Amino acid sequence: MYDVIVVGGGNAALCAALSASETARKVLVLERAPEEESGGNSRFTAGLLRVVYNGVEDLKQVIELSDDEIARSDFGTYTEEQFFDDMARVTEFRCDPDLTEILVKNSLPTVIWMRKNGVRFTAAWGRQAFNVGGKFKFWGGLTVEAVGGGPGLVDSLTQIARKRGIEVWYSARALSLVSDDEGVHGVRVKRAGKTLEVKGKAVVLAAGGFQANTEWRTRYLGPGWELAKVRGTRFNTGDAIEMALDIGAAAHGNWSGCHAVAWDRNAPEFGDLAVGDQFQKHSYPWGIYLNAEGKRFVDEGADFRNYTYAKYGRVILGQPGQFAWQIFDAKVKPQLRDEYRIKQVTKRVANSLEELVRQLEDTNADNALKEIQAYNRAVRTDVPFNPNVKDGRRTEGLAVPKSNWANTIDTPPFEAYAVTCGITFSFGGLRINTDAQVLNSDGEPIRGLYAAGELVGGIFWFNYPGGSGLTNGAVFGRLAGKNAALQTR
Ligand SMILES: Cc1cc2nc3c(=O)[nH]c(=O)nc-3n(C[C@H](O)[C@H](O)[C@H](O)COP(=O)(O)OP(=O)(O)OC[C@H]3O[C@@H](n4cnc5c(N)ncnc54)[C@H](O)[C@@H]3O)c2cc1C
Repeated sequence: MYDVIVVGGGNAALCAALSASETARKVLVLERAPEEESGGNSRFTAGLLRVVYNGVEDLKQVIELSDDEIARSDFGTYTEEQFFDDMARVTEFRCDPDLTEILVKNSLPTVIWMRKNGVRFTAAWGRQAFNVGGKFKFWGGLTVEAVGGGPGLVDSLTQIARKRGIEVWYSARALSLVSDDEGVHGVRVKRAGKTLEVKGKAVVLAAGGFQANTEWRTRYLGPGWELAKVRGTRFNTGDAIEMALDIGAAAHGNWSGCHAVAWDRNAPEFGDLAVGDQFQKHSYPWGIYLNAEGKRFVDEGADFRNYTYAKYGRVILGQPGQFAWQIFDAKVKPQLRDEYRIKQVTKRVANSLEELVRQLEDTNADNALKEIQAYNRAVRTDVPFNPNVKDGRRTEGLAVPKSNWANTIDTPPFEAYAVTCGITFSFGGLRINTDAQVLNSDGEPIRGLYAAGELVGGIFWFNYPGGSGLTNGAVFGRLAGKNAALQTR
């Protein structure tokens, strides 16, 4: 008999297991993936976490910063108010206020707790800051990064769990919950081809969303979603959501919504751990998008990348042929993120626009050329370009405007990158209360059942502020693990 059984092996699950082990004696982690593919989507990440901080002193509780690093960085602040505002704005005011409050208020304390447990963090100089006059200026509240990215985070949490005596079973797929009128008493598991029943006083579900399940994607997100590529793990097929619904749990949140981004058109069906998140193409604010008809279709500069990237995957999926091109000229090339320089990239280069559009396969070249020229004419070149702020350098008179960072595309060599929709995770899931207990469809907690991470509904809707997924998993994983363990006493 275990005290707490945790279903899943990603960030939310491992944080739940560590937290549970502070009170409970026997904690078991069930990970469906084999060890070499373990860690879920968390392993695929860059390890970036959205965390509230009121200045460098807060960051120093998490990151070892030298005087020199402090001197050449402008970390600014990311206040609770800013995190609340970001959550409210991007979710169109639908995020559950109580759960969002827990997420925001516990973001820094949870990361400090992870640090005290042995997880190491650094500042995201590479991806979330620009060098302005010799100083790195951070812009979007995304300053904290796990050392070693997602793989570093998962490996570190796993090592700490092992040292704590937490048992981890790999290739162990949870199938269903053992439950009766008194609540949940364990999990049925398939391990090495054998089905067995594992008894536990409490269970934490942290097995991810349903994005890797083609049928559920099409059923809940809608027609066409079977054509999306999966950015991360192939193991998040909604198992734990289904297990909970089967015993009467309430479905909650944005079941037709998901996080989806621009992803290399020729990327494989599921994520590839050797490439990680690098199939993504996130520098579109510095260029323009064209679809197969050679037309622009979205405001590439509507907001900072962190606040648009997660919803533009859906927009790309809606284009003819489910793909688009990102077009850049030589002026912005130094600003393109590192993912544009990987080997596995679908890229075209030319010294003239005429030559470039002819290379865009499956695309109307004449329209594409006219569209780029019309865009160039519409740019307010009198407004200075500044990547650190919403600079208002925009187009005028176009049916699809570009609101910020509108640079003309006129300096060779020109580059085009083909992207399609890559789904990250589904937003719909289970309903939990502020103790991370799973609620049944009558609104009552199911005794002995807790949930955390991607499979919880109600927090993210339509869109998502970058870096909130790991914070969400850590905050609610820690809470779920603690409460599950307390219940066993
Ligand atoms: C390419 C990519 C980059 C990303 N970058 C970032 C980033 O930088 N910052 C950020 O905050 N977020 C990022 N995200 C989102 C982030 O990965 C997720 O929000 C977060 O990792 C979810 O954590 P989780 O623990 O809930 O799920 P996961 O980490 O996906 O873990 C789910 C676990 O459940 C296991 N599982 C599934 N079914 C079963 C079953 N039946 N039995 C047992 N185990 C099961 C899986 O194998 C897996 O181990 C990124 C995602 C991707 C795909």
